Amino acid sequence: MFAKYSNQKEKINFEEIEEAAQKIQNGELVLFPTETVYGIGANAFDEIAVKKIFEAKGRAGDNPLIVHISNLQMVNEIVEEISDLEKKLIEKFWPGPLTIIFKRKSKDVIPNVVTANLNTVGIRMPSNLIAKELIQRAGVPIAAPSANVSGRPSGTKIEDIIEELQDKVSYILDGGLTDIGLESTVIRVEENKINILRPGKITKEQLEEVANEVEVDSHVLGKVEKNEKVASPGMKYRHYAPNTKCMMVYSEDEDKMISRINEITLGMKQEGKKILILAKKKNLNNYISEIKWNMGENLNEIAKNIFTLLRKVDKEQVDLVIIEGVGRNGLGLAITNRLIRACAYQYEIIN
Ligand code: AMP
Ligand code: MG
Repeated sequence: MFAKYSNQKEKINFEEIEEAAQKIQNGELVLFPTETVYGIGANAFDEIAVKKIFEAKGRAGDNPLIVHISNLQMVNEIVEEISDLEKKLIEKFWPGPLTIIFKRKSKDVIPNVVTANLNTVGIRMPSNLIAKELIQRAGVPIAAPSANVSGRPSGTKIEDIIEELQDKVSYILDGGLTDIGLESTVIRVEENKINILRPGKITKEQLEEVANEVEVDSHVLGKVEKNEKVASPGMKYRHYAPNTKCMMVYSEDEDKMISRINEITLGMKQEGKKILILAKKKNLNNYISEIKWNMGENLNEIAKNIFTLLRKVDKEQVDLVIIEGVGRNGLGLAITNRLIRACAYQYEIIN
């Protein structure tokens, strides 16, 4: 079944969401929009249903899923306790793109397959109306990772993911292009400190308004070495990367960044190689490569476009993709985190 909506409330067909909710109750998978990216969801209490998600994505069994809820009662059912700081974060950022890693209740409530046997569970309350309705009508929390085959960029519109996932789900809810375009911010709270495990739309700066101490985990921008223990298993895996070789170049001084990108382009051109540049709209004209794509005018637009662009890269059949870096302020940290993975850690930062 396929139901297409826009994100506007008045155009939402609640009967179709009801049908999708019944699929969840029956232990089947549903593709649905959230404000971050699309999710591929199953009843979080149903071990067999959740296993289907891992099969559909080809996801490693040690990479836990985020549990999506629509009301606070669902959280109380799943987690051992909620600290004062966590309560403040919930009040300020839920519903919204913030995943909090809590200590989980006895292991029988949420099956081990959801949390990859960890004694914690990641929970988020999405604000997207279709997602909220789906969870509410299903009446159970929905375990849902990003909708994409593992390793590929996350799906931000149905057209990008329909081919790889349509045979694997029982219902598709199409909510158009997702608002944010990057996955949620994932955090862990320890006493009065917040540790950012994956940056997202809720920025470090916003979290600093609630807590005195906010740290960015070293693996957010650093490479994970083989056999290294990480706070969030998802950090270990290849992600977002096209097959074509990509590199990121960044300098706070845009002229320096543009010169360096043109220098690399010129060298490769002389060897008869083809280069694709991904750049901010205002910089496009400054590049000497013939093939260049607009990433957007600002960080919000770049976040929204980047996964679709990365998915299209391989079709262009170039030898190298050079992507402009965006810095680490605000949403820049989340975009940079995705870009350096897409580039398999090939990047230059010029002072
Ligand atoms: P995805 O839903 O595919 O965007 O990935 C979810 C991310 O949340 C992955 O990077 C997971 O490693 C992370 N995650 C989910 N649950 C936990 C948990 N209990 N502890 C640490 N990280 C988690
Ligand atoms: Mg993912």
